[in-house]
Amino acid sequence: VAKANGRGTYAFYTHALTERAREMIALESDLHVALHSEQLVVYYQLQRDLRGDFFSGVEALVRWQHPQHGLMAPDRFLPVAQQAGLMPAIDEYVLRHACRQFQTWRASGCALSSLAVNMSGSWLDRGQVVPVVQQVLKETGLPATFLELEITETELMQQDDRCIEVLDSLRALGVRLAIDDFGTGHSSLMRLKRLPVSRLKIDRDFVRGLPGDSNDSAIARAVIALGDSLQLEVLAEGVETAEQEQLLQGFGCGLGQGYLYSRPVPAAELELMQGFL
Ligand code: C2E
Ligand code: MG
Ligand code: MG
Ligand code: MG
Repeated sequence: VAKANGRGTYAFYTHALTERAREMIALESDLHVALHSEQLVVYYQLQRDLRGDFFSGVEALVRWQHPQHGLMAPDRFLPVAQQAGLMPAIDEYVLRHACRQFQTWRASGCALSSLAVNMSGSWLDRGQVVPVVQQVLKETGLPATFLELEITETELMQQDDRCIEVLDSLRALGVRLAIDDFGTGHSSLMRLKRLPVSRLKIDRDFVRGLPGDSNDSAIARAVIALGDSLQLEVLAEGVETAEQEQLLQGFGCGLGQGYLYSRPVPAAELELMQGFL
């Protein structure tokens, strides 16, 4: 396509590709350094109980305070980490920092009942996740029931059936499991029934169109009904407006997360938020 547009475009195109490749390689080597020098920062976003109107938990979300590029969002560096096989290391870093932080909050009277941490497919894949989670819980003293591990529906569906054993082992530790970005990954209901999960997170793509879009509305209701019948909690992601909240409440959705309640913020900022303690 680029070639058909003439020589200039072609040259520009290859140049752009090399630039991108060069950035990826540079970021990859920076990422190794970042993991050992506390450049990764954990942000936290509150989760709201829509039935009781209180905050019930937080999700830990990684950021990278890069010495040259500034604060980087996960979308910018997780693909690099993925390619470099560094996802398990990042997940472990976030888990350890978040569990430690959550214990500190608990000690100062914070009553939140859950800490959600994202788990990549590659971490689950190698089965290494079980001993690491066990070790981090022991080391930080956080009781397992406070921890919830999230995996995206897409990554979960890419796993073969052996992942069920790993998930069962995590469950046996007392850790809860959630399926992230639910609705985008084509779960088979047969498989879903066999997974030891306790929460579905409706992808924010389906919340964005509420209350106007009738398809999004139908999907949100269907996920909530599915959750009800399988006795799973349902959390709506990306709640930005009071109208969306009201509609979801009306549908019987138990939990919400989104900019309406809080953006992801550093630990110190979360502590200043009303309703946190
Ligand atoms: P996610 O786990 O689905 O997290 C929710 C994302 O939606 C976060 O983006 C959050 O900032 C954003 N968000 C929350 N509320 C709203 C809202 O009301 N409106 C909009 N437009 N966005 C909202 P973030 O922090 O950029 O993270 C992106 C993704 O990167 C996460 O999606 C997750 O899949 C991945 N990620 C982040 N941290 C980690 C980690 O430690 N490990 C792994 N494996 N993945 C991570
Ligand atoms: Mg998540
Ligand atoms: Mg999500
Ligand atoms: Mg997502």
